[in-house]
Amino acid sequence: MKKTALASLLLALATLPALAQDKAINLYSARHYPTDEALYSDFTKTTGIKINRVDSDDAGILARLKAEGSASPADVILLVDASRLWRAEVDGLFLPIKSSMLDNAIPTNLRAKPSDNGGTAWYGFSTRARVIVYDKAKFNKTDVDAYEKLADPKFKGQLCIRSGSHPYNLSLFGAMNEHIGAQKTEVWLKGLVDNMARSPKGGDTDQIKGVASGECGVAVTNTYYLARMMRSTNADDRAMAERVGVVFPNQSSWGTHMNVAGGAVARYAKNPDGAVKFLEYLASPAAQNHFANGNNEWPTAKGVVIDNPALKAMTGGSFKSELLPISAVGMNQIKVQQMLDRVGFR
Ligand code: FE
Repeated sequence: MKKTALASLLLALATLPALAQDKAINLYSARHYPTDEALYSDFTKTTGIKINRVDSDDAGILARLKAEGSASPADVILLVDASRLWRAEVDGLFLPIKSSMLDNAIPTNLRAKPSDNGGTAWYGFSTRARVIVYDKAKFNKTDVDAYEKLADPKFKGQLCIRSGSHPYNLSLFGAMNEHIGAQKTEVWLKGLVDNMARSPKGGDTDQIKGVASGECGVAVTNTYYLARMMRSTNADDRAMAERVGVVFPNQSSWGTHMNVAGGAVARYAKNPDGAVKFLEYLASPAAQNHFANGNNEWPTAKGVVIDNPALKAMTGGSFKSELLPISAVGMNQIKVQQMLDRVGFR
């Protein structure tokens, strides 16, 4: 009897640190959207698990995880680019997990392929389209209804686009490489450089503003930046969004390029259970609706219906998106960067 009591006490002591740990997770996040605050606080409210957040960009997070190695305090990772998710998986920075909730919710093409232990290294929780915006006073929709057309000499001095090496562009160009082949992709990239209105600078919002101000005739942006301007409380932002037309390119061929933001459990997570709980929360209808309405992205979980007026206005309801294995786009990154160096796309 005594022995049993002692054993129980020892067991209780042994589980104490684990219980304390359960109350917090360390999150490394590349999501740079202020509206996500509500997402995190809702999780804490629902589960009692506190989130300690470290913000950085995708590259910064990967570098940090590598430097920290097994001593890393990270439990959960959120990245905003498919190629980077793939890279981190290949580099062994994620802990593949088994969750029937996530497997049922997230379509197979929006998550990592099963790993050797049968687990999944990462899941996509939202998608965004990379679209073309244009000055409605200068051009028509049909002028820019395919990415290929951005290299047309008629846009000489008209194109605004952020740095070619930014993950959003590396993924788009890596996808182009899959669709039209390496040779044509490099010729196309050279065409983009020849058409630039200015050296690449700023983020996607700056390119939209460039079109609205008349400095650029055409530009490339992720959809949520435009949706944010359309729904802004600032009348100037709304007026600028009003001045630009938007095209979901390649509707009559392979479809518009999509990127995915996703999450994973860190390879050396000290609280993997809390981390899985957080990822499962991200696939819940409440969190998915938050992605859709807070940051104007498309939810990935099956059966989640959204009602976002800006996204609806942009697409007219639906559009054709490309279907590519994310690993293929990821593997093209280095090749594409070499092309960019050759054609002088900074
Ligand atoms: Fe972004």
